[in-house]
Amino acid sequence: MFKTIKYGFGQGSRTIELIPYKSWQEREILLACSLNEEEFENTGVDKIFDYLKDNIIYNKDYILSKDEKIYLLYMLRSISVGESINSTNTCPHCQKKFDAELPIDGFIIEPKNFNESLIFDDFTCYFKDTYTNSNIDEYFYKVVYNINKDEIILRDDIQNFFDNINVENENTILNFIKENRTIFKFICKKKCKHCKEDFQIPMDSDTYVTSTLSEDSLISLYKTISNLNFHGKYTKTDIDGMLPFERSILVSLLETNLKELKEARP
Ligand SMILES: [Zn+2]
Repeated sequence: MFKTIKYGFGQGSRTIELIPYKSWQEREILLACSLNEEEFENTGVDKIFDYLKDNIIYNKDYILSKDEKIYLLYMLRSISVGESINSTNTCPHCQKKFDAELPIDGFIIEPKNFNESLIFDDFTCYFKDTYTNSNIDEYFYKVVYNINKDEIILRDDIQNFFDNINVENENTILNFIKENRTIFKFICKKKCKHCKEDFQIPMDSDTYVTSTLSEDSLISLYKTISNLNFHGKYTKTDIDGMLPFERSILVSLLETNLKELKEARP
């Protein structure tokens, strides 16, 4: 089973297949996060993305930005664990804590009317929708000199071209980029349940992203394995092969059964 994810436009459009991760992978992610807590503060997203490389299938020509990796990890989490994140938040206004469900949704903003090329002066620039680069030449894959149709397609030539354009043209190009690129925004807007003030929950740090990949802790996961094994007669291999959300369903069914059995007892 897999889910196909598509985003972006033009030369930079992406098609990526995601295969949900299994319980044994979730456990290894939890373990890796707890063993490398400090190191993962800046590299967690890259490390876990690499660890899950067999679950994320894409054309190796893609050079994925960090935002794209975060987005793909969230999408993978969504199909493996669930579509929203249970999170405990501290309101920045009244400092009180409250629980909220954060949807894994709305992280991507696509341009309204994507334009693949920009014509100005004697040139046509062809836009490649890349995502978070700060160099303007990274956004274009080809420049054509309209007078004699010479195409500038080498990386260095494109860079030279943009290095030598005047300020007015540079502004035109910067505006064009702004209107046509795909933007990622990892933020959730919520209203505090106590003081009713609005605030934003940032969801883009390495620590935050990696922490959302499981709703369990290592301890609670081992407890679950033990309970499913003891009461539900599932083997550890059975449980390891389950998707995290399947495991949650079985746990809640088991809890209901145990409760009913207990109540039926004289
Ligand atoms: Zn508040």
